[in-house]
Amino acid sequence: MPRRRPGVLRAEQEPRVEWSVPAGRIHGLSARTSAAIDRTERLSGDYYVYPGATDRALRRYRAFLRVPGRRPLYPQDPECSCRGCSFDDVRHARDVLAEVVRQLPLRPRAELAHTVRALDDRYVMRTLPDPFAADRQWGSDLWWRRRLAGG
Ligand SMILES: [Zn+2]
Repeated sequence: MPRRRPGVLRAEQEPRVEWSVPAGRIHGLSARTSAAIDRTERLSGDYYVYPGATDRALRRYRAFLRVPGRRPLYPQDPECSCRGCSFDDVRHARDVLAEVVRQLPLRPRAELAHTVRALDDRYVMRTLPDPFAADRQWGSDLWWRRRLAGG
C-alpha cells in the first residue's frame, strides 16, 4: 500500500515554529550547516521535516549501511506511515534528506548533499536494482526507490 508522499500532509499541518530546544551539531556536519538545517526544519511546513528529522534520517541511513559484509541489503516497508515509524524504511530517510537538501540555502545544501552522496554510493553498492519498481513501488521516479525491497 503506497505511503503518503512527504508533503501531502503539508496543507493539514500548521507551520510550527519551536524555539525551545537549541540546535545541536549534526554528526559529520559543520556547526553552520547544522544551524541552517535546524532553521529549515523549524520553518518547514512538511509533516515529515521537523526539528531533528535530518539528524534522524542520517543516523537511519548510516545504520542501514553499517551491516558488515557484502551481501545485499533490502529496504523494508514501514509498519505505519507516521513520521516516527516511517524511518523504519531507509528509503523514507532518503526522502527526508532529499527534501531538506531541496529546502536548504545554497552553502549548507552543498555540504549536506555531499554527505548524502557518500552514503548514496554505499547504498547503490549494497542494494540491488528492481527492474519492476515502476509497477510495484511508490515513488519509483526516485532512484533510491528503484531498489529491491524486502518483504
Ligand atoms: Zn507510527
